[in-house]
Amino acid sequence: MSRILDGKWVRDEIQKECRSRVERLVAKAGRPPRLVVILSGNDPGSEIYVRNKVKTCQELEIGSEKITPPATVTTTELLGEIDKLNRREEVDGILVQLPLPRQVDTRAVLAAVDPGKDVDGFHPVNAGNLLANRPGLRPCTPCGIMELLRRYEIPVAGKRAVVVGRSDIVGKPMALMLMHQNATVTICHSRTVDLAAECARADILVAAMGRPVFIRREFIKPGATVIDVGMNRLSDRSEVVRLLANAPEKLAVFEKNGTVLVGDVHPAEVAEVAGAYAPVPGGVGLLTIAMLMVNTIEAAERRLGLCSA
Ligand code: NAP
Repeated sequence: MSRILDGKWVRDEIQKECRSRVERLVAKAGRPPRLVVILSGNDPGSEIYVRNKVKTCQELEIGSEKITPPATVTTTELLGEIDKLNRREEVDGILVQLPLPRQVDTRAVLAAVDPGKDVDGFHPVNAGNLLANRPGLRPCTPCGIMELLRRYEIPVAGKRAVVVGRSDIVGKPMALMLMHQNATVTICHSRTVDLAAECARADILVAAMGRPVFIRREFIKPGATVIDVGMNRLSDRSEVVRLLANAPEKLAVFEKNGTVLVGDVHPAEVAEVAGAYAPVPGGVGLLTIAMLMVNTIEAAERRLGLCSA
C-alpha cells in the first residue's frame, strides 16, 4: 500500500508558522495582515469557500472583510470596488472569488487588482514573475502541492513530473513550479495522445483535470508519487457503482450520504501501485486555504518592508 500524504498534517504545520509570522507583524508594524474577499452573487459553492477563508483568517488572527456585490453587478462597479481596495493602505490582500457573474469581464477584473495585493497570484504580473522565477505571489493550489512534496521530503530535482491539466490556476503554474525545482516536466491535456503512456512515465504525477476517477492503475508507474487535485462530487448511483466498484470505502460514503467526493485518480488502484499518494479528500484540498493565508502574510510583509525576498 502506498504512503498517504496527509494534507491535514501539512496544513497544521503551515498554520503554526503563520501564527508566529502574524505575531511578528503585529509586534513590528502594529497591525495584523488584512484580507478582503469579494463575493459577487450567490453561488452556493463560492459561499462555502468564502466562509472557510474568513473562518481561517479568524483562527490565525488575520484581519478579514467580505464585500458582497449582488449577482447583477457590472464590470465597472467591480472595477470601482477594486480601485478602492487598491488604495486602502491597511488592506494587504484582495481576493476576487470566482466564478464571477456571467456579465462580468473576469480578465479585466483580475487584472485590476494591485499585483502586490493579488493573493490568488492570478494577475499577469505575478504570472510573469512565476514564469521568470522571480519573487511574487503564486497561485495557492500548486504552492500547496510544492509544500506537500517539500515537507514529505519527496525529491523533485531530476525526476520526471507529469501534470495533467493546463489551466491558469493549477496546471500551468504547477508545471512551472516543478520545472523551477529542476524536474523534467510534461504537461498533458485533453488533446494529448495516449495519456496513460505519458502518465506511466511519471515519478511525480499531478492530476488536475476535473474528470472523476479517470487515472487508473495503468496510468501509474509503480512507486510514483501521485497528487490528486480533482474535486468531483458524484450523486448518480450507476456512475458511482461503475467507477468505484472496487473501492468499498467510497461506496460506503455514497450509501450513507447520497453523494461522494472523488478525485481524478482511482483511490483503490492508486493505493496499490503508487509509492505515495495525496488523496481526495484529505490531501491538496486542505492546503489551498492555508497557502492563501501564507500569501496574505507575505503580501503584508512585503508592503510593510519586512520581507527579505
Ligand atoms: P479546468 O480549468 O477545467 O482545467 C482542466 C484541465 O484538464 C484542462 O487543461 C483540460 O484540457 C484537462 N483535461 C480535461 N479532460 C481531460 C482528459 N480527458 N484528458 C486529459 N486532460 C484533460 O480545471 P482546473 O480549474 O484546473 O481544476 C482541475 C480540477 O482540480 C477540478 O476538479 C477542480 O475542482 C480541482 N481543483 C481543486 C482545488 C483544490 O483546492 N483542491 C483547486 C483548484 C481546482 P484542455 O485544456 O485541453 O481543455
